[in-house]
Amino acid sequence: MRRRLVFAILLVSFAGAALYFLSQANRQLRRETRFMMGTQMTVTMVAPALDAERIAREAFAKAEMVDREMGRRPGSELTVLNDEGKGTTGPHLSKVIEAALKWASGSEGAFDPTLAALIDLWAVEKGPHPPPAQKEIEETLKLTGYEKVSRTPDGKGFVLGGVKLDLGAIAKGYAVDLAAESLKNDGVSDFLIDAGGDLYISGTKKGKPWKVGLADPREPGLLIMTFNPKEGAVVTSGDYERYFEWEGVRYGHVLDPETGRPAKGAASVTVWAKNAADADALATALMVLGPEKGLELVAKHAPAEALMIDREGKIHKSPGFDAVMPRSAE
Ligand code: AMP
Ligand code: MG
Repeated sequence: MRRRLVFAILLVSFAGAALYFLSQANRQLRRETRFMMGTQMTVTMVAPALDAERIAREAFAKAEMVDREMGRRPGSELTVLNDEGKGTTGPHLSKVIEAALKWASGSEGAFDPTLAALIDLWAVEKGPHPPPAQKEIEETLKLTGYEKVSRTPDGKGFVLGGVKLDLGAIAKGYAVDLAAESLKNDGVSDFLIDAGGDLYISGTKKGKPWKVGLADPREPGLLIMTFNPKEGAVVTSGDYERYFEWEGVRYGHVLDPETGRPAKGAASVTVWAKNAADADALATALMVLGPEKGLELVAKHAPAEALMIDREGKIHKSPGFDAVMPRSAE
């Protein structure tokens, strides 16, 4: 009787171990890419070969949903709200507008989700053209300002108060967060998501830490440093990402809500935070604020950390940056 029991236990453990090794052998490093939000989104993950495609598809679908709802294209939920000036908003859009308004007041308006009119005036995407006249900038600034936005009395939507929203500085981060959540819900714990500078890092790359590079803002093809970030989001915002040049002057896509002109705070900002939406908003705010005020803001939002490269190429870091973003060996 006892021998049988021992035999049964051995058999079960053997079968268990065999299954475990089989499932491990089945786990592959997979990379999937989609084009969305004007950039490439890449998911690199360690996942069971048979499920990898479905898992990636589900993660991309979440990010695509954010793009569809919060982009400034005709028919999006955001465009409808902008056109009507007020309205009820779905759970995702409500959450992002809420977070954006929190960051706007938290950054004393350096991050401002109500700059749509000003962004359209500068039309950075259009390529080389003369910058707008000072008078036009001043007139357009009157159509911005996060303090003008309020909740509808029933709390289910927003009243814009004459401004139009642009969530380009936070929605990509939110999309990355939803994609990360989707991967985790599907049982994937080792992955790196990269949506054109908005990253989320989890676990390891088959036992080795994930490695991410920081581009030289004046020579974006070159990396100046590589890091092994701790679990969380790493978002970079820079004046080299989208800009146009006119008569030898570079006009970047991050605008200073106070002057109405391209921000001059930094050439690039990299923020580490628990989630990508916060890191995204903070990175944009720091582009406007510059190293001194920017790092003060970061200190108020621990556990966030930042590395800023100023326009002279000098590096400024928050005190805890190296702990969450240790330099990689090579
Ligand atoms: P990011 O790449 O995250 O820094 O976002 C930049 C995008 O956000 C721009 O292309 C604009 O659509 C928008 N934007 C520009 N300036 C600001 C600002 N000061 N606050 C919030 N959004 C901004
Ligand atoms: Mg941003």
